Amino acid sequence: MTMDGGRPLRVAVVGSGPSGFYAAEALFKDATLKCEVDMFDRLPTPFGLVRGGVAPDHQKIKSVVKVYEKTAADPRFRFYGNVKLGADLSLEDLRRRYDAVILAVGAESDRRMGIPGEDLAGSFAATEFVGWYNSHPDHRDKAFDLSAESVAVVGIGNVAVDVARVLAEDPEVLAKTDMADYAVDALRKSRVKNVYMLGRRGPAQAAFSPAELEELGGLHSADLVLTPEETALDPESQKDYDAGDQALKKNVDALQAFAKRGPGSKARKVHLRLCVSPVEVVGKDGKVAAVRIEKNVLVRQPDGSIKPKGSGRFETLPIGMILRSVGYFGVPVPGVPFDSKKGVIPNAAGRVLEAGAPLPGLYVVGWAKRGPSGLIGTNRACSAETAAKVLEDFRGKALAADAEKTQAAAEAYVRGKKRDVVSFADWKRLDAAEVEKGKASGKIREKFSRISDALAALKAVVV
Ligand code: NAP
Repeated sequence: MTMDGGRPLRVAVVGSGPSGFYAAEALFKDATLKCEVDMFDRLPTPFGLVRGGVAPDHQKIKSVVKVYEKTAADPRFRFYGNVKLGADLSLEDLRRRYDAVILAVGAESDRRMGIPGEDLAGSFAATEFVGWYNSHPDHRDKAFDLSAESVAVVGIGNVAVDVARVLAEDPEVLAKTDMADYAVDALRKSRVKNVYMLGRRGPAQAAFSPAELEELGGLHSADLVLTPEETALDPESQKDYDAGDQALKKNVDALQAFAKRGPGSKARKVHLRLCVSPVEVVGKDGKVAAVRIEKNVLVRQPDGSIKPKGSGRFETLPIGMILRSVGYFGVPVPGVPFDSKKGVIPNAAGRVLEAGAPLPGLYVVGWAKRGPSGLIGTNRACSAETAAKVLEDFRGKALAADAEKTQAAAEAYVRGKKRDVVSFADWKRLDAAEVEKGKASGKIREKFSRISDALAALKAVVV
């Protein structure tokens, strides 16, 4: 058995974002388990949303990678970047070579609004915009037209706040960060003056965190604008406020204080609209020209939640671009059960379920497990829960010697299947090259935004 001197438990983790690294960390931490972890990522670079999602002006949040680097430095750990499950390797390939496969694939797509005009040119998912300014290879070639005076961001979660801040803030604040150089250039040329954030419910139901709201209210080049009418609490929301947690109270108090402050005198405005739902994206010549919104009333539901209901009163806001920031959504992994309604992999505390029964040796962590919610740290407990299930399933089992289930066999197999596999040592070289490249323009780093450029840089370094 793994715990009494047999061969180590071999674990593959697919995905190198926070949840993947926390799963490896939890497995390594368990003194009763002898275990090796091979981590795969379709990109040549690790860290998932910490690299491709966290806003460039939130470098403190990104410093969490130091924790992941500690895990990666463990001799029981291997990184295989630029290897895609479902293209370069199949799930069956992995299951044959590993005792356990942990899927840490996140939620790579986005929710839709389901309204007319959503597919017009100039209508995007906020996640595309985020990927674009963060140099993500999937999104770096997208073109966002910032020539209009007004744009809309649908949703009032933390992602919506990030994109509104990036659109409204002085680009020079972002120029020294690790934001893509092409994005900084585009933002410097931007003519956007008004960013409309559209929340379908009221101040007591806002999804953003108080700290993010405070930051939005303190931008150098934009005022946060709200009206007393839209920040007033309806009687049901007032009950939630009176009984509510600190975050809810802080949000409501801050929103009402911003409303009292008036529109301010800065060149740009972030208009945070509440109790409004977009009902149509209006086009002109095939391009976004306006968004029609309906004012909502809030209604307490039998389950205790508060939902928006259209009031029949409409308004039209002229805009040149709309970003829907209404949540991420999972993408199915070939061969793995998928709940297409919730966008997650069905599971019981991390054990993947098929028709209600656990699939032996297959596990899930992070957003693919519980849906796209929570902060980076939320993943630590989530991954520890799954790791505990792995341990439970293998405790007391003798692992027979298996020539395919060794670090060396896996290395040879993966490299035989795919050229240009990126190891963690390779990534550290890319990391150093990015930092070096950034120095020239006084930036924290300039990321490789094309996979081919990253691979070419590695070859240049090796030769
Ligand atoms: P989110 O927190 O779930 O917010 C989604 C927003 O979209 C909510 O305001 C929601 O309103 C709204 N919405 C959903 N469907 C809608 C529709 N059909 N029409 C209009 N509005 C709609 O999701 P997120 O902003 O994508 O963030 C994902 C997770 O990452 C969150 O846990 C977030 O805290 C985290 N994150 C954290 C940070 C940070 O800490 N700095 C930064 C980015 C993301 P309802 O509430 O009415 O449903």
